[in-house]
Amino acid sequence: MVARGALERLFRPEVLALSAYHVADARGLIKLDAMENPYPWPEEVQEAWLDSLRGTPVNRYPDPQAGEVQQLLRQYDGIDESMELLLGNGSDELIQILLMAVARPGATVLAPEPTFVMYRQIANCLGLRFVGVPLRADDFALDGPAMLDAISQYQPAVIFLAYPNNPTGNLFDSHWVRQIVAAAPGLVVVDEAYGPFARSSYLPGLHEHEGLLVMRTLSKLGLAGLRLGYLVGDPAWIHELDKLRLPYNINVLTQRSVVFALGQQALLASQVQRILEGRTWLHEALSALSWVQVFTSAANFITFRVLGVDASDIHQRLRQQGVLIKNLHPAGGLLAHCLRVTIGTEQENQAFILALKRCVS
Ligand code: PMP
Repeated sequence: MVARGALERLFRPEVLALSAYHVADARGLIKLDAMENPYPWPEEVQEAWLDSLRGTPVNRYPDPQAGEVQQLLRQYDGIDESMELLLGNGSDELIQILLMAVARPGATVLAPEPTFVMYRQIANCLGLRFVGVPLRADDFALDGPAMLDAISQYQPAVIFLAYPNNPTGNLFDSHWVRQIVAAAPGLVVVDEAYGPFARSSYLPGLHEHEGLLVMRTLSKLGLAGLRLGYLVGDPAWIHELDKLRLPYNINVLTQRSVVFALGQQALLASQVQRILEGRTWLHEALSALSWVQVFTSAANFITFRVLGVDASDIHQRLRQQGVLIKNLHPAGGLLAHCLRVTIGTEQENQAFILALKRCVS
């Protein structure tokens, strides 16, 4: 067993201070904790996908630029010719690349909180200062004046705005987003991981602000297992960031599978539609419970607060009934007594509501 002293001599204190990103064991459970698309591909689509993989040269390195994938993503999102794309092994990797690029001594990363935990996690690990500006307590909206004050005080190299935000599910007010972009001395990354469920995007606004970058992912659309995220922005930023990308970060099976999947637009759109219907159903079902406060969501999950009961206890009781959701209560602060449920299939949503009602009866 390696002694603690040896670890401390060798590894940076920032690394030793981190807690690993926790992924719950979901075996045997209805999995509503990770914002995945619950619908598998129909049999014939799976067959066609496997056919498309036949003959893939796994003995060769993949196309380092994933050119075909880039081209199809451009078409899929209608990305302007004047902008460039950086592909990542999930958008997680893009956050890491971005923060590695700005990790000068004393540099600051800023985001409203609560938000996606990897912004803070990766910033901390790289020795960057992370400043979280609390969202408004009643509706998780941006506290615009507080954000502008923090920008002026800390002069952040990067600001992250998850749009819609995870774990709160809301879209930030465009009035404040515009003011933040105008006031920012560095980059503003609008993280549209949940874009497919929001129908609102900053992609068309990219050419208006050179410091604006839009980050998207195919994970929530239904391809979480393939790991493909993309960052879009002015070529000058993307060229520099591309130097930090490890060669061949998008493997050959992912490249081929994404090319196939982006050819299945009608299927992907119909799955998004079902998820949106599920969201409406779940929102109503949760709103009908007197001991639940539901927050409106523009994403593929709903965050809610339980009143007069213990959130961790509810989480545990759901698990005992075979339903796994995310317990946000341990994070504390604005997330006290909050839980987050991913929209599942019609049956999964019903099973969740039934189990939730049983928790208190
Ligand atoms: N951004 C946000 C806001 C997220 O919630 C997530 C995943 N939970 C990600 C980025 C990372 O997505 P991925 O790495 O799967 O592309």
